[in-house]
Amino acid sequence: MRVLISGAGIAGPALAYWLDHYGFETTIVEKAPRLRTGGYVIDFWGSGFDVAQRMDLLEEIQRKGYRLDEVRVVDRTGRRTSGFPAAAFARATKGRYVSLPRGDLAAAIFARLGGRVETIFDDSILALSEEADRVRVDFASGVRREFDLVVGADGLHSRLRELVFGPQHQFERFLGYKAAAFEIDGYRPRDELVYVMYTEVGQQAARFAMRGDRTVFLFTFADPDPDTGDLAAQRALLRQRFGSSGWECPAILEALDRAGEFYFDRVSQIRMNAWSRGRVALVGDAAYCVSLLAGQGSALGMAGAYILAGELHRANGDYRIAFARYHALLGPLIEAKQEAALRFAGTFAPKSRLALAVRNRIFDLLSIGWIADLAVGRDLADRIELPDY
Ligand SMILES: Cc1cc2nc3c(=O)[nH]c(=O)nc-3n(C[C@H](O)[C@H](O)[C@H](O)COP(=O)(O)OP(=O)(O)OC[C@H]3O[C@@H](n4cnc5c(N)ncnc54)[C@H](O)[C@@H]3O)c2cc1C
Repeated sequence: MRVLISGAGIAGPALAYWLDHYGFETTIVEKAPRLRTGGYVIDFWGSGFDVAQRMDLLEEIQRKGYRLDEVRVVDRTGRRTSGFPAAAFARATKGRYVSLPRGDLAAAIFARLGGRVETIFDDSILALSEEADRVRVDFASGVRREFDLVVGADGLHSRLRELVFGPQHQFERFLGYKAAAFEIDGYRPRDELVYVMYTEVGQQAARFAMRGDRTVFLFTFADPDPDTGDLAAQRALLRQRFGSSGWECPAILEALDRAGEFYFDRVSQIRMNAWSRGRVALVGDAAYCVSLLAGQGSALGMAGAYILAGELHRANGDYRIAFARYHALLGPLIEAKQEAALRFAGTFAPKSRLALAVRNRIFDLLSIGWIADLAVGRDLADRIELPDY
């Protein structure tokens, strides 16, 4: 069977890897001229970690990744006010936890394709029409081709979802926050293996020092307006919200002009009743974005890719059976993660002084081993058994 995948982020190449493994003829089309790099650091564990192991990726991911020592909350002068040792994450996941740049994970997955999968950069699906035995696809480049199945792995703002399932607003649940992330070379100070965060009511800035004298920054803030505007408006909004904040915020914003790839978006989830329609399916953020508040979207994108490909293989290409099994297997886990993310929202940008103080005291309690194990263990667990296909 010929399968077209839209999107070479995390879920798309992971799906391509498994489809190729099972003998499907696979093509990826990616809108960007090359793989996206940089951006932000992700935490990686759970079922996605297990899939990475089955793809023989662990060694590389561990090498490129970081094992955090501490999560540290500072006040406007940079003095530590709260925090906890990150060992709780490692214990709760039996050491199967790593933090790494999203771009490095994406590149590692893509490299595992070993050139076996046709990949078209700088192009995208313009239109598609489904017939009884195939899907005709028109690409933006003007090329027209036919496939047996088409899968959208094109992220939170999926174009394929819009083309086949309907407009984004039908499925998007905006969570009332925006986020910006970027990387700066040579920033000072550095605190190795410490995730340093400064929180004010309704907003938070954080930094993490990486190898090669790079530092990655993540800004999150409450904002009821879902409009994200253009690049100039995004930078202006960031300056307006954080320009006169405490800690290192003014210095970081000053260095913003030196930053590489700039990520800015609203924080949303995608909630759909069905992840497939006819010969078209969705995977990863396109189908079920859990949002950055869940800290697990990449891992769940990989788990979804593994299950979708495995079910197609198991059903011998009968996509009706495979798509239904894929949703039935993964759906309950996604629902649980999306609900957990909503509960977690307040810790990113607490909406009152009281909520901020309570969060900081909870962080302090996480310094006590058994409390951390209890609290962190519950939220980190993925209640799913990955099938062996
Ligand atoms: C700030 C932040 C922090 C996060 N932290 C974590 C974390 O700690 N742990 C974690 O696991 N996850 C985290 N996530 C979530 C994670 O990054 C996403 O869930 C993950 O990248 C989703 O993978 P994906 O392949 O579904 O989509 P994406 O990674 O978004 O990839 C989609 C791809 O599709 C391409 N594309 C878009 N439109 C088209 C089109 N029309 N045609 C062709 N190609 C197209 C894009 O260029 C992109 O390459 C975080 C996200 C953010 C924003």
